[in-house]
Amino acid sequence: MRYCTLCKRYIEPVKNRWSWAWFIILCFTGFGGIGYALYHIIMKKKKRCSICYTKQLTKYSPGDAETKKLEKEEKREERKQLIKNTKNKFIDTINGDGE
Ligand SMILES: [Zn+2]
Repeated sequence: MRYCTLCKRYIEPVKNRWSWAWFIILCFTGFGGIGYALYHIIMKKKKRCSICYTKQLTKYSPGDAETKKLEKEEKREERKQLIKNTKNKFIDTINGDGE
């Protein structure tokens, strides 16, 4: 699944489709057919939105990307806190007056 920045929704991307009609039309223009074949080979890897056919697809919606970023930061903060706590406990143990 990819997020389409134009449709503003998650879509199932489609690959460029080979069009015989275009190929034949372009063949009449001389090297157009070869150009189209080359274009197709190059562009085949690009995925497009199945609704509006834009190539402007992202992995996550801007909202989701923000959430993911926050989650990451939260986790990092948690880890920091854990290290701090462990450190404090260690210091406490050393500084404990051995009662
Ligand atoms: Zn779209």
